[in-house]
Amino acid sequence: MMEENEDMNHDTENDLDEETLFVVSQTFKALGDPTRIRILHLLYQQECSVNKIAEALNLSQSSVSHQLRFLKNLRLVKNRRAGTTIYYSHDDEHVIQILEQTIAHALHT
Ligand SMILES: [Zn+2]
Repeated sequence: MMEENEDMNHDTENDLDEETLFVVSQTFKALGDPTRIRILHLLYQQECSVNKIAEALNLSQSSVSHQLRFLKNLRLVKNRRAGTTIYYSHDDEHVIQILEQTIAHALHT
């Protein structure tokens, strides 16, 4: 459980350092947007092109591209090129599990 930590900003062993807090906050911010939730949930199920995402979710391509850039900056999605098409998929098992758990939470009675 205990990891070596040389961070001088680390006050106590139980507290979180600033960088960790920043990443956690950014992650919940990323998940705090209905459009990004829809995109990530779709990418949980299948790899998709921008076109496919736009069609499946009835969004404009520019809106999808904008959100994918945001998610890619946080390394929550990745892409690969196949010919002229770029395919997106989710890139973090932790975050996708948080999302799917939260969806399950919203759906249970
Ligand atoms: Zn629950």
